[in-house]
Amino acid sequence: MSTDLPPGIQRRRFDGRERLATRGEPVYGEPQDEEGWRAWDAGRSKLGAMLELELNLGFAGDDGVLYLGAASGTTVSHVADFAGPTYAVEFAPRPTRDLLAVADARPNLFPLLKDARAPETYAHVVEAGLEYVVQDVATRGQATVALRNRRFLAPDGRLVAAIKARSEDVLEDPDDVFSDVLDDLREGYAITDTRRLDRFHDDHLAVVAEPRA
Ligand code: SAM
Repeated sequence: MSTDLPPGIQRRRFDGRERLATRGEPVYGEPQDEEGWRAWDAGRSKLGAMLELELNLGFAGDDGVLYLGAASGTTVSHVADFAGPTYAVEFAPRPTRDLLAVADARPNLFPLLKDARAPETYAHVVEAGLEYVVQDVATRGQATVALRNRRFLAPDGRLVAAIKARSEDVLEDPDDVFSDVLDDLREGYAITDTRRLDRFHDDHLAVVAEPRA
């Protein structure tokens, strides 16, 4: 196991290749070993890609997480395997149905069929003072979503966002899009790290940030 990885995430061998893994019920056809560890496919998960690229995300193992853009649960299932209470917001009904099945095997995973642009609609369910907001919403206005959900973070909490350039503007140069999104994010966050995810996900930027007082 790599010492750089947070508790609950390991590097394990699957078919002769070392891969990230968490321990839990398989969700998307990923291989599982005899000790219950299942491979985390970085090609299907921006958060997985961030960990493969060794971004220091600082997960402690029992963190409270608000995950925005959960889809059918590919990535958030891994998060719930290693984190504490994990609130998963998704506004499309169809993937949310699959997400409900994923949550069946994970008592700490709470799916919410909600619009991440309207956090007041789930503020009565999601506890405040969380350690992480993880965001992967393929929608225009990704900075706005992050700013509106800052309210759930503890003062020393972190935003971990995957910003998709094409969701903001299909024609503009991704670098210009990222620069604009980062400027917008600075209204409420101090950016601590950024990394292009192109090795795994074209035209995506990882952003790690802390809420500003
Ligand atoms: N994070 C997922 C994973 O790794 O398994 C993939 C997420 S997919 C790239 C983006 C998701 O964001 C879609 O399922 C989409 O329906 C959802 N989404 C987009 N805008 C949203 C919004 N305003 N509120 C909630 N979900 C939203």
